Amino acid sequence: MSEELFKNVISHAKEYGFVFPGSEIYDGLAAVYDYGQNGVELKNNIRTYWWKSMVQMHENIVGLDSAIFMHPKVWKASGHVDGFNDPMIDNKDSKKRYRADVLIEDQVEKYVQKIEKEVEKGRKRFGDSFDEVQFRATNPNVQRSQKTIDYINGRMKNALEAGDLADLKELIEELAIACPISGSKNWTEVRQFNLMYSTQMSATDGESQIYLRPETAQGIFVNYLNVQKTGRMKLPFGIAQTGKAFRNEIVARQFIMRMKEFEQMEMQFFVQPGTELEWYKYWKEARLKWHLNLGTDAKKYRYHDHVKLAHYANAAVDIEYDFPFGFKEVEGIHSRTDFDLGRHQEFSGKKIQYFDPERNENYVPYVIETSIGLDRMFLVMMTNSLKEEKLENGENRSVLSLPPALAPFQCAILPLMKKDGLPEMGEKIFKKLRLDFNCYYEDKDSIGKRYRRQDAIGTPICITVDHDSLANEDVTIRFRDTMEQKRVKIAELSEIIDKEVSMKSLLGGL
Ligand code: ATP
Repeated sequence: MSEELFKNVISHAKEYGFVFPGSEIYDGLAAVYDYGQNGVELKNNIRTYWWKSMVQMHENIVGLDSAIFMHPKVWKASGHVDGFNDPMIDNKDSKKRYRADVLIEDQVEKYVQKIEKEVEKGRKRFGDSFDEVQFRATNPNVQRSQKTIDYINGRMKNALEAGDLADLKELIEELAIACPISGSKNWTEVRQFNLMYSTQMSATDGESQIYLRPETAQGIFVNYLNVQKTGRMKLPFGIAQTGKAFRNEIVARQFIMRMKEFEQMEMQFFVQPGTELEWYKYWKEARLKWHLNLGTDAKKYRYHDHVKLAHYANAAVDIEYDFPFGFKEVEGIHSRTDFDLGRHQEFSGKKIQYFDPERNENYVPYVIETSIGLDRMFLVMMTNSLKEEKLENGENRSVLSLPPALAPFQCAILPLMKKDGLPEMGEKIFKKLRLDFNCYYEDKDSIGKRYRRQDAIGTPICITVDHDSLANEDVTIRFRDTMEQKRVKIAELSEIIDKEVSMKSLLGGL
């Protein structure tokens, strides 16, 4: 069922102009995708929702747009040149390449699911008197699975931290992990693989190697002083930016989930050392609220605390969404201490500090990062919204129940017929409403067909102009999800649409 939903999402995304395979006429380019006419609108709207909620709604967060190309020393300082590696392993029979840690994590997930099944069984057996906490703490099957999970996680954490690739391989063998494609356990050794793309930049003294940024965060760190000074920012404050990032992912799969070129929306929040865990808690909660404010079922989200903390972090959590292929990371919240600014201070030789007038001292601020993938969020919205419905008249409809403010078009103006002055009236309405909303105009085909097309791209409101409209200055509006229709005055349209679909109403829920 889930697999089918995922296939439907991919084909729907293509058929309705949301996402196309990159360079398709040349048979595509692996793990690279292009956003079509409707996709670009949805993507822009998700970005706007993020930007407004982070920047516009916080008086102490400002924006930035830094360059993709950065001085090569940035990536030396950040640790990416030496440490931005994934442990990879090949299956000798299928010739498929995997991330060793992902293979192991997938194995852990099987035990997590075992526990959840056991808990569900318990819930059914004990009914109202079911005490979940006690059950989890005492049930022998749950305990056994939990022990295995702790063992695997502990061993993986140690191996990753020590860079012990041989032990990762041993763990894969011990757990009898088989290749999902060939079913074989015939593995190569585990090797490190750097994910950064590099290119050449010519300079007067020859060529120098530079990298395509693998994250947007470093652009924020290297501009910390510029923004703090020119914006007269006081701690705590944040800098937000959205933009492209590039990673030579070993296993690029699952559509736009893991791409080689993708977009991030990141915010670095600079705080007084010692207060970072309070702020970490704040952002962990605030970011989940941002997701749930879109109306997604809370059961579809969960936190996943990091087993292996990066060497610079003192707390890290992922916000995961229940995709058709399981719970996977959409966003990470990381307490990065003073690592990044400290390293740039060391490598650049420039003092990167904050003078705290209250404490009357200089120090390197600590940082909480929130980092979300725009493309993954797009996939969350598509998978969560696409529904196939059977209507009372026996017909089927595909409907994309996107949060109205994020839909590519907020409304469609549909004159019932292409004659008798109806298109002229429709156009008049279109010209007025387009100042506030992204509107679709169409006067061809039967009204039923046009409604279906708007449902399929998620347009929350359709406005139909008919002969009565000419005499009464009113129109029929139809709502996407309920298909309810009502008659309203043309003069009231702006206000009605605004209430139903505006970004303002969405942001108001935060
Ligand atoms: P993963 O473990 O899934 O590779 P990550 O931990 O490397 O992700 P981060 O470095 O924390 O990811 O990046 C922040 C966010 O950027 C992720 O939560 C994700 O939404 C997004 N992201 C990372 N890599 C990709 C990618 N290859 N394609 C699309 N989005 C990505």
